[in-house]
Amino acid sequence: MTASGARLLEGGAIAEEIRTAVAEDVSTFSATRGRAPGLRVVIVGRDAPSTVYLERILRGCAKVGIDAGFVELEGEATEALVTDALRALNADATVDGVIVQMPLPPTIRLRAVVDAIDPAKDIDGIHPLNAGLLRLGYDGFLPATAHAAVEILRRSGIEIEGRDAVVIGRSAVVGMPAAFLLVREDATVTVCHSRTRDLAGHVRRAEIVVVAAGVPGLVTGAMLRPGAVVVDVGINLVDGRIVGDVDFESARAVASAITPVPGGVGPLTNALLLTHLIRAAERQWPLQSPVAVPAIDRP
Ligand code: NAP
Repeated sequence: MTASGARLLEGGAIAEEIRTAVAEDVSTFSATRGRAPGLRVVIVGRDAPSTVYLERILRGCAKVGIDAGFVELEGEATEALVTDALRALNADATVDGVIVQMPLPPTIRLRAVVDAIDPAKDIDGIHPLNAGLLRLGYDGFLPATAHAAVEILRRSGIEIEGRDAVVIGRSAVVGMPAAFLLVREDATVTVCHSRTRDLAGHVRRAEIVVVAAGVPGLVTGAMLRPGAVVVDVGINLVDGRIVGDVDFESARAVASAITPVPGGVGPLTNALLLTHLIRAAERQWPLQSPVAVPAIDRP
């Protein structure tokens, strides 16, 4: 609880629980397949935030026994170089999952890159096949951030079924998949974006508000319905500090529950990526069922 009474939905403890379970599955996989599950991050041109993100992923993997590494291409790399690198990873039997660090340089078409990933190794759900599976309600790989935004509600015991939800942001990696997941959980969902008229009016009607716009302070307490649950996906650097898209102080005075930034959706995103990786490894390398040995007829 915060001083104002809004419950803090923190991702750290949930992420730890998830990592403990993943570590067990990784250890079983390694013992039965003779190698650790493998993850590679493709990174095109290094800037400071992506370096921090990369180190976080590598550290998280090392903790649970995943063999993680990265393929680094120069910032001037051509589209063909990036897609060739992805095809090499697709063909590498020791690599079970691949993540492409976003954003890509503007000269490289996102469509060409997402098409080049093997959907079976696409643990951040960017390939059109996985996006389509989500849209149709079938199992596939989910974009980890959108997955985390909804999983933090589920694992915190927040009721979703039948509730009015607003998602602010309609990107293919966060907003839309979060909206589809909420619909799958039986919420009634409105998706808002930069052309939405009367954003405050939509937010005021919502019992659950998921904000993924990349605009610091976009949602304030004055816009919220009293008792709303707020999931802040935004990560913005303001005056050297990481802040979300929600004005935390005013929002927590009105909300019944709210995710902090940092410490809310972020830690869960990283932990869920590990679960996607071990599932990818298990699906590509299922344990052989024991071969039935025919009984020998004896005279
Ligand atoms: P994005 O591709 O830039 O999409 C932003 C979305 O927000 C767009 O749909 C945009 O509308 C909408 N939007 C922008 N300004 C708005 C406004 N004033 N009112 C209403 N809607 C507005 O960003 P993204 O990749 O989805 O990421 C969203 C946020 O999540 C960013 O802060 C990013 O850093 C963060 N993020 C967090 C994690 C995590 O692990 N927590 C991971 C990835 C990203 P239009 O479509 O009309 O342009």
